[in-house]
Amino acid sequence: MPSDQAHVSASSSSVPACSGCLSELVQPLEWDQEEGGGWHVLVRCPECFRLSRLRLTAQQARKFRGTMEEAAHSLESTADMLDLQVFRETYIGFVQALRDGLVWPMDF
Ligand SMILES: [Zn+2]
Repeated sequence: MPSDQAHVSASSSSVPACSGCLSELVQPLEWDQEEGGGWHVLVRCPECFRLSRLRLTAQQARKFRGTMEEAAHSLESTADMLDLQVFRETYIGFVQALRDGLVWPMDF
């Protein structure tokens, strides 16, 4: 696993990018607040697995956290939708098996 412990500054207008492959999918692992409100953030890139240490202003850190929260909500919504779809397909299959006489009390 490549590792890069160099400090990388993120621009004020963008989500932090990986210092190795420029992916904007970096994920925070550790947050350390510095005096004055800035943050040092250890991030991991899910695409090239590089570890980098970012130095963010308070505003950049808020934006990065907001982006992470939006991504988490999106993943939760997708997981809920997939759970519902799997449940629906399972119960439709079970009802069909009951109608076809493929399920008996002794099956339980
Ligand atoms: Zn990367």
